[in-house]
Amino acid sequence: MPRKHRAARDRPLRLDEVERPLGVAPAWAQVTGTTVRAVSGERAKTYRCPGCHQEIRAGTPHLVVVEHGDVEGRRHWHTGCWRRELRRLGRAV
Ligand SMILES: [Zn+2]
Repeated sequence: MPRKHRAARDRPLRLDEVERPLGVAPAWAQVTGTTVRAVSGERAKTYRCPGCHQEIRAGTPHLVVVEHGDVEGRRHWHTGCWRRELRRLGRAV
């Protein structure tokens, strides 16, 4: 019996394909009323995380959170701090 050619879409996804592409935050990080983006931080300057008040060093992948209607008020969060913040707010998925 000839081997059936498998269409590319039928093959199992590899983990790195399931993981977000750069620029799209993971589903758990999404909150109604905000836009959350993942950034590599490669070209970023140093930001201060509102969660832990520590610096996010340039080159550290992290999240940028923009409250809708408040473009000027975007915040850079450590990924882990944002996760804790969502738990604290009871908004974790
Ligand atoms: Zn932090």
